[in-house]
Amino acid sequence: MRLVLLGAPGSGKGTQATRLKEHLQVPHISTGDLLRAEVAAGSTLGLQAKAVMARGDLVSDDILLGMLEDRLSRPDVASGFILDGYPRNLAQADALGKLLARIGQPMDHAVQLEVDTDKLVDRLAGRAQAEGRADDNPESVRNRLNIYNDQTAPVIDFYRQHGVLKAVHGEGSMDEVFTRILEAIMVGIDVG
Ligand code: ADP
Repeated sequence: MRLVLLGAPGSGKGTQATRLKEHLQVPHISTGDLLRAEVAAGSTLGLQAKAVMARGDLVSDDILLGMLEDRLSRPDVASGFILDGYPRNLAQADALGKLLARIGQPMDHAVQLEVDTDKLVDRLAGRAQAEGRADDNPESVRNRLNIYNDQTAPVIDFYRQHGVLKAVHGEGSMDEVFTRILEAIMVGIDVG
């Protein structure tokens, strides 16, 4: 199964992706994690991305597409994947659509996690304390939420038009949200 998770920073994409990965037995591809690994490794790409990410701005579409093409060419995606953090604007959505068409593996579901803005701000503040991520400071959080509303929200319409959008209420316990996702993509709790 090929699935993309959509939702604002703090909407729980990473948490749910981890569970879905176990349940569906497909790899979790997080562009944020891929970028943070490049930063940690001190690669050329990581050096380019580091300051952009700390501000909460988007890293260039070219860098992201190259990284994604590379990841999607690995053999473990034959069984499908859960994509998290991409696409973040319409150009990326378009590029991904073309890439998947080229490899004959269209997206099955785009799951949108809907969470109120107040709740997002609370969750990100909590995460800042717990994890100390460089981009969870108030200024960067505000910037990421603005970019989400301006550039990423239109991606939801893109998938709606393609007939694969599943909107899921993203508040409540992690288990509740997980169950709603499985219902939305019509996967039974006991089925692998
Ligand atoms: P969050 O969704 O909580 O903001 P992510 O881990 O998904 O966190 O992303 C962290 C940062 O990595 C983003 O703010 C951005 O700088 C960069 N990034 C991740 N994915 C993309 C993407 N598809 N396009 C551009 N930049 C990205």
